[in-house]
Amino acid sequence: MKKSYNIIDHHYDVIVIGAGGSGLRATLGVAEAGLKAACITKVFPTRSHTVAAQGGIGAALGNMGEDNWRWHMFDTVKGSDWLGDQDAIEYLCSNAPEAVVELEDYGMPFSRTDDGKIYQRPFGGHLTKNGEGSPAMRACAAADRTGHALLHTLYQQSLKNNVEFFIEYFVLDLLMDTNDVCCGVVAWCLEDGSIHRFLSHQTILATGGYGRAYFSSTSAHICTGDGSAMVLRQDLPLSDMEFIQFHPTGVYGAGMLITEGARGEGGYLTNSKGERFMERYAPNAKDLASRDVVSRAITIEVNEKRGCGNKADHALLHLEHIEKNILQKRLPGIAETAKIFAGVDVTKEPIPVIPTVHYNMGGIPTNYRTEVLCPTKENPENVCEGLMAVGEGACVSVHGANRLGTNSLIDLVVFGKAASMTAKEKVKPNSSKIDLKKNITEEIMDRFDNIRHNPGRFTTGELRLSMQQIMQQNCSVFRTQELLFKGINKLNEVESSMNDLEVRDKSLIFNTDLTEALELNNLMAQSKVTLHSALNRKESRGAHAREDFPERDDEKWLTHSLVWLSKDGNIRFGDRPVHMNTLTNHVQTIPPKKRVY
Ligand SMILES: Cc1cc2nc3c(=O)[nH]c(=O)nc-3n(C[C@H](O)[C@H](O)[C@H](O)COP(=O)(O)OP(=O)(O)OC[C@H]3O[C@@H](n4cnc5c(N)ncnc54)[C@H](O)[C@@H]3O)c2cc1C
Repeated sequence: MKKSYNIIDHHYDVIVIGAGGSGLRATLGVAEAGLKAACITKVFPTRSHTVAAQGGIGAALGNMGEDNWRWHMFDTVKGSDWLGDQDAIEYLCSNAPEAVVELEDYGMPFSRTDDGKIYQRPFGGHLTKNGEGSPAMRACAAADRTGHALLHTLYQQSLKNNVEFFIEYFVLDLLMDTNDVCCGVVAWCLEDGSIHRFLSHQTILATGGYGRAYFSSTSAHICTGDGSAMVLRQDLPLSDMEFIQFHPTGVYGAGMLITEGARGEGGYLTNSKGERFMERYAPNAKDLASRDVVSRAITIEVNEKRGCGNKADHALLHLEHIEKNILQKRLPGIAETAKIFAGVDVTKEPIPVIPTVHYNMGGIPTNYRTEVLCPTKENPENVCEGLMAVGEGACVSVHGANRLGTNSLIDLVVFGKAASMTAKEKVKPNSSKIDLKKNITEEIMDRFDNIRHNPGRFTTGELRLSMQQIMQQNCSVFRTQELLFKGINKLNEVESSMNDLEVRDKSLIFNTDLTEALELNNLMAQSKVTLHSALNRKESRGAHAREDFPERDDEKWLTHSLVWLSKDGNIRFGDRPVHMNTLTNHVQTIPPKKRVY
């Protein structure tokens, strides 16, 4: 039975959807600027996935060896396989040291060197002297719980600045006016079942990635890319969705992450013959090559029957040669994870590991000011007014075709702050109230009701599992046209079964059956555009490795892909030029060349 909803209205200058690192940094900046701001989140802020980040936050502080933000920029452009926008990357790397010092000033409890400076460790793909020198000590760390320290610090600062939080409110969709300007969102309060409209002059999406589209992922269960799906439903495009990062060292069988910081502290990988096989794939950087390179190497070792264990299907990560007190001090969380999820004592035996989905390079396209882009033929930089995006859900694009470790946490705070600066520029405090057109909310609530009241044979869990298995098998570390075609056909079947999905619990109060069904709808849309985008890009670049097109093809494909998903399920592609220009003359552009480590 459908019902009409009593809707409660709220008015703000700026609303932020999401309370992970990016959402909290944006909210904090907006509040400090004196704007009336609210932060809306489906989980308690400190339960956002950022809390799980382990290894570090990248910034060329040079505390433990020579470093320079220009080398950080070089590594990031190279890591992105030249698909990252160089103006945005310059903005990220040049602002990174200040952003980390700001976190320190906010009270973030970093690990320290003996002389009291922020501790920094090496990480994959980060080198000195434009890739020619030794590994850079660039990952600022709070042991192996950096995200935990960061998120709690930002949450405490937000409380200090009297930010208004709406906690356990599930945002359903964006509100747009007749001029396609975003003017807020509709949200469902999970605690009491009430429906709310948040009206605002700027809406900042900070809703995170969609790792849960895959069967084996390091992401939390809440990583369902809700904001990106809302964008697709407004007939706005997503960008570079074919680029999915596999982290080389997920715990075999469980998927939990073993940070790259473990290799940064001296850990290394072996195959069933006991060989340190990374020496063959990346003679220079070895185990600290970038993630796509190491993930492919493990996959090849397994495919060529040099995998470890009874099924010869994984690699081993060795930490047992590292001094016990270093392990205790620098990697306490990893020791715990290995014990619980692999039954391994890291001081005595290696950890079985396998590449596991970890990060989405693609997402909502934005410029470096974090304004959402809605490119047209005439203007590839066309901005969708009223809407901004930050964090893993956004595609700025600083990570291009492959993200380097530690570059997400720094992306969150640098662009979270940038969003607040753009908002400050665009919105005047206490701006006039927004008058919405009548009935604008109806379509959103109809969709909600259709999912809530649909009769059917399937449960959310059944269809989600089918989707996750398809993504895992057909859109993995290596891809071919045949595999992707099969994946698309299989996913089409699951998509038609969505009409036969029944939410058994009809209530509106803490109804996890309904939230999971809404999240599955969001995941399905993103899985679909990911498969199609992967089929569309006929080259290998960064994390997108096509066995049938093994080379990078700069002539045809040095471009961001854009993908639209229409209401009737049709896919449309477009593209947007990669920014090869820098923002200032403090650094030179980095022309494409072959990417070797
Ligand atoms: C295990 C692990 C370890 C990692 N380690 C590192 C590391 O060491 N260094 C590094 O740089 N990166 C690391 N990463 C990557 C990095 O942590 C993430 O990319 C980043 O934290 C994402 O932050 P975010 O702000 O975009 O979103 P998240 O932290 O994912 O938060 C999303 C927010 O959006 C809210 N939200 C989502 N949908 C809705 C909705 N419908 N309604 C209301 N609210 C909603 C959620 O409540 C949440 O508050 C790691 C990732 C994982 C999974």
